[in-house]
Amino acid sequence: MKTLQRDSLNERKDSSMKTLQHDNLIAGEWKKGASYSPNINPSNLADVVAEYTQGDAGDVDAAVAAATAAFPAWATGSIQARSDALDKIGTEILARRDELGTLLSREEGKTKPEGIGEVTRAGQIFKFFAGECLRLSGELLPSVRPGISVEITREPVGVVGLITPWNFPMAIPAWKSAPALAFGNCVILKPADIVPASAWALAEIISRSGIPAGVFNLVMGRGSVIGDAMVRHAGVHAISFTGSVGVGQRIAEACVQGHKKVQLEMGGKNPQVVLDDADLGKAVELSVQSAFYATGQRCTAASRLIVTEGIYSKFIDAVERRMAKLTVGDALAQGTDIGPVSSQSQLEQDLSYIEIGQREGATLAVGGERLTRATEGFFMAPALFSESSASMRINREEIFGPVASVIRVKDYDEALATANDTAFGLSAGIATTSLKHATHFKRHCQAGMVMVNLPTAGVDYHVPFGGRKGSSYGPREQGRYAQEFFTTVKTAYTDPN
Ligand code: NAP
Repeated sequence: MKTLQRDSLNERKDSSMKTLQHDNLIAGEWKKGASYSPNINPSNLADVVAEYTQGDAGDVDAAVAAATAAFPAWATGSIQARSDALDKIGTEILARRDELGTLLSREEGKTKPEGIGEVTRAGQIFKFFAGECLRLSGELLPSVRPGISVEITREPVGVVGLITPWNFPMAIPAWKSAPALAFGNCVILKPADIVPASAWALAEIISRSGIPAGVFNLVMGRGSVIGDAMVRHAGVHAISFTGSVGVGQRIAEACVQGHKKVQLEMGGKNPQVVLDDADLGKAVELSVQSAFYATGQRCTAASRLIVTEGIYSKFIDAVERRMAKLTVGDALAQGTDIGPVSSQSQLEQDLSYIEIGQREGATLAVGGERLTRATEGFFMAPALFSESSASMRINREEIFGPVASVIRVKDYDEALATANDTAFGLSAGIATTSLKHATHFKRHCQAGMVMVNLPTAGVDYHVPFGGRKGSSYGPREQGRYAQEFFTTVKTAYTDPN
């Protein structure tokens, strides 16, 4: 079987533009799309990371055909070969974490330590699923009919389409691709249009891992073109999507029409509860981290700080003092705590919510203005609203930027009710020294992930990730729970006589 080759020819400099151009990976070949689009550094709009090709529906057809052809051999092939390939991918990602983390920060805008951390996570995920290739198990049961046995086994789903957002340009492609490949599926990855560099780098590493041609395909381009064509393609058996609620809902509807398996990870409006008995220093640090690190652009970021009245004033004062120490600047500069917002449209959305919050009557305690720095970029001062109420739009709609609001509540019961008063249910945190309240919160908050005295963002890679209500739909991602989505169950009966 043909294996993939490193793209040395297609990774080239266009002499007139002096910019590297990168192509799609289809059937083990690097293929040009209809055009190229520049990937711009949000810390410095004059810096073009590289140009990435824009595919069309024909590229999706070609990728599906390649994946379909590669599937039978990959699905039934050696699990040792799969494990070795995933381990090799993980090893290379980890060995290149500084370089890839720098690339990620340059294209997305999270700080360099955050970029390196994300790349490290991607490498660890591939290593984890290298092991999972060998651990997929089934069940053997006696039948209710004497003498007959029943086997329950898991098989790959087939050709899977992976559609990923811009805020984790390498970790999310990794946490979808690694289990998909580990369990014998063939993949078509469509990364977010504004951050193709990390996904392209991942595809390039995968292309040299020994995985056969056609098993992993990368098709870059616009969601309304590539994503839509994948979702509607009869040859795609499952779609794993991470992104906004609106797009996710439309994808789910199309998948139901097309009888496709679908998994959606979407938005959040995550609460961070702070009770009177909390360790103030700890509560402040984890709230500031949850709300503003990675420029607040994490689906697990805390955007509603729900604080009981006994600690409310002390908490606001201390958060303001902590925020005054945050350095906003170039993602790659040493000492930057908060990088730029990742795009013009996201910055406009963030700034519009600053106006909305003020119009609604919340107090803008800190920040919320656009900042200028040495280079032109999408810099914004992290914003804290105080005296906000649970019914305000700033507390009901996902802003997805460095904006958090504080809601004053009477006691724990009101805090829990306020935390649950949302259409979302991804992550929820509580800062308290009360075992009673921590235990009750873990059981009764309506979220997929709960943190006690820890930031709402920051999760392990070997355990399930996902939420409830408007945040998620379908089986969990990551850890061994990933097999729920990336395999299908078969029940086989045998009468040996
Ligand atoms: P988005 O606009 O929904 O885009 C997500 C992906 O869907 C992108 O690759 C996008 O392509 C593609 N897409 C757009 N329209 C499509 C269509 N009609 N058919 C198929 N695909 C389409 O989300 P985003 O702005 O990139 O990401 C931010 C959102 O992701 C936030 O809501 C955040 O909470 C959520 N998120 C959730 C999690 C989680 O695990 N719950 C994790 C991270 C982020 P283009 O880039 O070309 O538009």
